[in-house]
Amino acid sequence: MINAVRRILPKVSTTTPSNSTLQGAPLGHQAIDTVLKDKLNDLMRMEEKISNLDAHDALYLLTRCLTIPRLTHFLRCAPSFDNPTLDEYDAHLRSTLKKALNLSLEDQQWDQATLPVRLGGIGVRKATHVALPAFLSSCLASSALVEKIVPERLRDVVGAQDPRFTEAAIRWDTLTDSSSRPTPPKEHKQSHWDKPIMEKIANTMLSNASGKGKALLLAVKAPHSGDFLLAVPNSSLGTRLDPQAIRIGVTLRLAAPILTEHRCICGRGTADQFGLHGLVCHTAEGKYARHEEVNDIITRSLATARCPAQREPQVQRSDRSQKRPDGATMLPWKDGKQIAWDYKCAATLADTYLPYSVVEGGGAASHRETQKIRKYEDLPSCYNFIPIGSETLGAWGKCALKFLIELGEKLIIETKDHRATSFLF
Ligand SMILES: [Zn+2]
Repeated sequence: MINAVRRILPKVSTTTPSNSTLQGAPLGHQAIDTVLKDKLNDLMRMEEKISNLDAHDALYLLTRCLTIPRLTHFLRCAPSFDNPTLDEYDAHLRSTLKKALNLSLEDQQWDQATLPVRLGGIGVRKATHVALPAFLSSCLASSALVEKIVPERLRDVVGAQDPRFTEAAIRWDTLTDSSSRPTPPKEHKQSHWDKPIMEKIANTMLSNASGKGKALLLAVKAPHSGDFLLAVPNSSLGTRLDPQAIRIGVTLRLAAPILTEHRCICGRGTADQFGLHGLVCHTAEGKYARHEEVNDIITRSLATARCPAQREPQVQRSDRSQKRPDGATMLPWKDGKQIAWDYKCAATLADTYLPYSVVEGGGAASHRETQKIRKYEDLPSCYNFIPIGSETLGAWGKCALKFLIELGEKLIIETKDHRATSFLF
């Protein structure tokens, strides 16, 4: 047969079933392994070189283009969710992340790291987690077109009738708490199949945790607490963190060991291996500078939102301390009133705040905000006082969230950039 074809088309190339691909997608089951092995080899090549990159750049590239984004097309085109090579791919992904950030990752921290940022992870997704939602959504989204293309006798084995689809959907049911599968038009979107699986994993982690572990998980999944991981590293915009800073930020988020336990020079306690003492130690440098930085960002953002503000304004107070708020607007912000704000950062896992942190994400920050409101209740009536509370693990207090989202919306109008709120956080 091949010889007959060759006589008519002498330049035609032949291929085996295991090498048959069309635009990167395997044609038939035999080609799945070949394509996946190629993807794995690409990752292994990168694993060797990743430590040459700047840590922040490396993390950004890992989550945004070098790993799962390069695999997604394949995962959507082929039923690969039960392929054992995906486990191998995940093992190399873990090792690549460890090399990129120079940190050690136990199983629990690795599992947390692979959650989406909004659920408390760092957004390095496991191939084994993405494969099922990718295949299910793609199968349903393309079924109408496939039915038009294939001959009538094959129409009852495509889309939702495909035996591999049924197999994948049954597997999905076991991985979620969801009583029902996504329905049209949501069933065509990968995120609607992905979200229930990830939420179940995050909820299981949270229900197995207690004390500081629980407070940490609540804080890192609180709204906007992981926005620093979404920023594009750019030195001229001031959004590139130095290797040590990104390493500390990630290890604090994952409760991974970062240093050897030792007696702190402050003499008040032991510096634990997770670096938490450094967040409360009175000898730790930079606390004042960071406080100033937050107030500067708020002042500059208010100016961009056409409501200029001044730092530490003179305001008439009956209070004995005569303490000034961190800043106040010079024009009315809302309802004809100016705003005065005061910023405070609370250590999420400090013993004083732990009772608030284990109740809800941002609980410690909200508690500090309540204290601030009491402290500034005698401000002149032309001011609305806004306490801005944040936490060392990234969570924000309720008043801070409401105000910064409001400010972000004004920044979106002024800058025409829909990501302005996220940039602000
Ligand atoms: Zn100390």
